Amino acid sequence: MANCKLQLETRLIHNNHSVDPGTGAVSVPIHHASTFHQADVDAFGKYDYARSGNPTREALEDTIAQLEGGTRGFAFSSGMAAISTVFLLLSKGDHVIVSEDVYGGTFRVLTEVLSRFGIEHSFVDTSDLKQIEGSLQPNTKVIYVETPSNPLLKVSNLRAICELAKKNNCLTFVDNTFLTPILQRPLELGADIVIHSATKFIAGHSDVVAGLAVVRDEQLAEKLAFLQNTFGAVLGVQDSWLVLRGLKTLHVRLKQSQQSAGVLAYFFDRHPAVKQVYYPGLENHQGHAAHFQQASGAGAVLSFRLAGEAQVKQLVERLTIPVFAVSLGAVESILSYPAKMSHAAMPEAEREKRGIHGGLLRLSVGLENIDDLLADFTTALDAIAEGRTSAENTDYRWNRGAV
Ligand SMILES: *Cc1c(COP(=O)(O)O)cnc(C)c1O
Repeated sequence: MANCKLQLETRLIHNNHSVDPGTGAVSVPIHHASTFHQADVDAFGKYDYARSGNPTREALEDTIAQLEGGTRGFAFSSGMAAISTVFLLLSKGDHVIVSEDVYGGTFRVLTEVLSRFGIEHSFVDTSDLKQIEGSLQPNTKVIYVETPSNPLLKVSNLRAICELAKKNNCLTFVDNTFLTPILQRPLELGADIVIHSATKFIAGHSDVVAGLAVVRDEQLAEKLAFLQNTFGAVLGVQDSWLVLRGLKTLHVRLKQSQQSAGVLAYFFDRHPAVKQVYYPGLENHQGHAAHFQQASGAGAVLSFRLAGEAQVKQLVERLTIPVFAVSLGAVESILSYPAKMSHAAMPEAEREKRGIHGGLLRLSVGLENIDDLLADFTTALDAIAEGRTSAENTDYRWNRGAV
């Protein structure tokens, strides 16, 4: 059934797990069993205990491995469980080079947990290869990259980084949450492990927390399989099923959201209340050319900067469509405030140093009609540009129907 010549969109629907061989069911059965009967003292079956392996979770693990072009996939109870387990490949005395505007939880696990176990780290701007080169130490074992990064959408050159890593006997780990295998496949560019918060675009409906990892090399996959089973932060079967269901529509969701993100980025870029837009799809974005060397689209997440926190407050009060929340990659547009949400775990001085300004907002574009989104942002941003107060805004919103 699996046919690698088929396009990715088709393989989201038609793969080894599209039809259950036992029953013909067109949806993966949810196997709740935590243990499996063994026929014989000497001959154990494929499954024994569900932490070590379960057919429902395995269907998801196979599917993501196939989509990312890896040998083996792993499903974890959250993106952070995936990231933390992958970091357990390291030992005391090892050193990691990490993208400086990395996800806040990744920052926290490195600085507050792994540091206690003697695992060292250096945060560098991985969009600058020279900075990575300059931070390499004899004990550097991993280069950990998010591209585009969070929340400044900085682009790191994956091919060059993987090459540099190989020359220095390092592994490259890539957090591919923002783009998914639909738009970027790091393993094909030389990375060793790709990681996802499947909570985001892959599951896509803000109704499940999940993490995935895919490994290229067989031996490294064995090591991660051992750690997944040993540490035990596996994904439950109901959640595995929800992620599998989300995957089926990943392509159409991402395509639509990306198209709207492009329109909104262009609009923000020209609006007087917006000081700067960060979106790799814009030609004026610093990493635009590098991004399209390694990815087939700019994705559906963008950030933009207003003058400061006061303007952020006004915008949030005035907008009616996007939910104001942590997270991204869902059917609804999600507006978040990195300084107080995803990067709240980062001390203010560190945040400012990384450009995570008090006026910075991140928008993950959902599936709403683009005209509605544009109208909502126009109303709110125009009021900020014209310096209207919130009290006057009540009228403004009330009158919106007539506009
Ligand atoms: C959300 C997120 C994570 C963490 O994933 P959880 O599922 O929330 O544990 C890691 N990396 C990125 C880029 C994310 O957006």
